[in-house]
Amino acid sequence: MTVARSAGQIGPADGPAQLAGVELTALRGVRLLDGTLADLDLADGEITAVRAGDGRASTDAGTDASGWRLVPAAGEPHAHLDKALSAEQIEPGPRAGNDLVSAIEQWRSLVPTLTSDDFADRARRAVRRYVANGITTIRTHADALLAGDPLRGVDALLGLREELRGTITLQVCLLAGQDVPDAVIEDAIGRGIDVLGGCPHLADEPAKETSRILDHAERSGLPVDLHTDEQTTTGHLDLADLAEQVIARGMSQRVTASHCVRLGMLGHDRRGPVVDLVAKAGIGIVTLPITNLYLQGRDADGAAPRGLTAIRALLEAGVPVAAGADNLRDPFNPVGRADPFETTSLLVAAGHLRPAEALAAVTTTTRTVLGLPAAGTGPGSRADFMLVPDVPLDEVVAGAQTARVVVHGGRVLADTRVSTVLDLDPMPR
Ligand SMILES: [Zn+2]
Repeated sequence: MTVARSAGQIGPADGPAQLAGVELTALRGVRLLDGTLADLDLADGEITAVRAGDGRASTDAGTDASGWRLVPAAGEPHAHLDKALSAEQIEPGPRAGNDLVSAIEQWRSLVPTLTSDDFADRARRAVRRYVANGITTIRTHADALLAGDPLRGVDALLGLREELRGTITLQVCLLAGQDVPDAVIEDAIGRGIDVLGGCPHLADEPAKETSRILDHAERSGLPVDLHTDEQTTTGHLDLADLAEQVIARGMSQRVTASHCVRLGMLGHDRRGPVVDLVAKAGIGIVTLPITNLYLQGRDADGAAPRGLTAIRALLEAGVPVAAGADNLRDPFNPVGRADPFETTSLLVAAGHLRPAEALAAVTTTTRTVLGLPAAGTGPGSRADFMLVPDVPLDEVVAGAQTARVVVHGGRVLADTRVSTVLDLDPMPR
């Protein structure tokens, strides 16, 4: 446990990392997203005032943040902390990689060997990586397991949520497949999950499975987040079913559809009506570039699809599109850095978003989709943000900066500085 203390200055990006545990009450001369310099006051976990200023006119109260840029808090809207870092437990083999079906098979072969402690240990280590990189809000899906105690992974993550309560925000979403009995879903609801999820696209009767999960959501009042259309096949979309059911039921709780890969496969004529339905239903979408670029398109004989949803069409229809990474070093994604700027890079390169749009997808829109109040955006918003070196925003979104100071509720949770020594002189000609 660190003791709260104040700091006179953030200091240089290549200086010592020593601010973890510091409570910030004011920042002076920090660069905002719009490029202006400002002084900020912080109190009770909120930003209470923002004034234009370079810090020079201020009294010596507060922390000199010159040389740093404030970026609103990043979130991971779709993680699998129960699976994270399990790649370490997989025997290296000759396979070139997994598609969705083989990844599920590999994961299921691991499950019987995994204990509650193992789930908690890997999840805790993954959270440390996310937080160090600026992600202080995480929605994690958690499998209802088909071997052993079905809720031991869920329990481990609920335990971690309580352990971290007041430090970061962790939402646990049950991921119940069609083979998970209703009684297990009700048991998980009783244990205090935050969100109900499922994977109708893997069910024998997808529309019926969507109905089953929505029935539980209506009874419990919990928000919904379904793995949806995580394939490259076209045909009738489960997303359209979901939107129609949400509208017909008049559901008031937040409903999210993650992946929606098949929507990205459609041309304008077939895509338009589905996008309109999603907008009308008020559904939030989560796109997950790194994992879907890895899993999808393996059976293509040239011109492999990208595995992303129809991001531009959704944004143009006013649908909130959040972005995350999904899996982290497990059978579904063997790589990944738990870094919001890895996702923004992919959104620009593979999703064709502008840098500012990519940044919104991992920060402000993620909070919208997760049903959380604004953070790091101005007076009255949560004092949750990142400080990164004051370079142009495009350079930030490119993920080129590793140094960062991560603040949640006004408290510095992580401080990373980078010092590099190069010997390129004299350069060979
Ligand atoms: Zn997922």
